[in-house]
Amino acid sequence: MTEAGWTAHELKCWPEYFQAVLDGVKMFEIRKNDRDFKVGDWLHLQEWCPKTQAYTGRSTKREVVYSTGWEQKPGYIVMGLRSPTDRQMGRVAACEWTYDDMDDYYETACKRGYSLEDGTLEENYHKYCPYCGGLIQLAQAAQKEKGVGE
Ligand SMILES: [Zn+2]
Repeated sequence: MTEAGWTAHELKCWPEYFQAVLDGVKMFEIRKNDRDFKVGDWLHLQEWCPKTQAYTGRSTKREVVYSTGWEQKPGYIVMGLRSPTDRQMGRVAACEWTYDDMDDYYETACKRGYSLEDGTLEENYHKYCPYCGGLIQLAQAAQKEKGVGE
C-alpha cells in the first residue's frame, strides 16, 4: 500500500505489546522482514487477541526511524519507532547507552561504542547520540558514578 511515496504496513500486534507501544515504553518492533520494511515507512499496528483470534478494534501508527538486522535471526529485523506526535514535535527517538565500567566506555543502542576522556555525559554536555542522533538515555544500572573506582 503506497501513498505519496511512503508505505504503510498493516500488522497484527498482541495486546501486551500493543499496550507497551501505546504507553510509549516499547519504541521498537522485531519482525520477520518479509515485507521489505524501510526507514520512513509507517507501521499500522492493530491489536489482535490470540485467545479470541480476533482484532480488538484498537490500532495505532508508528513511523520507522531506524532499522537493523544486527544479531537477529536470519530474515528478521529490528525497527526503531517514532509516534506521530513525536514526529510533529520534531522529537527524535531515544538511544539507550549502557556504561561498561570494565572498559570505561558506553555501548550505544545503535551498536557503537563511545568513551569519554573524563567525567560523566552530563559534565561533557552530551545529550544526543553522535551516531544516530537519538536522545541519550542511560540504562538504569549503568550510570557512570563520579568518583567510583578512583
Ligand atoms: Zn545512537
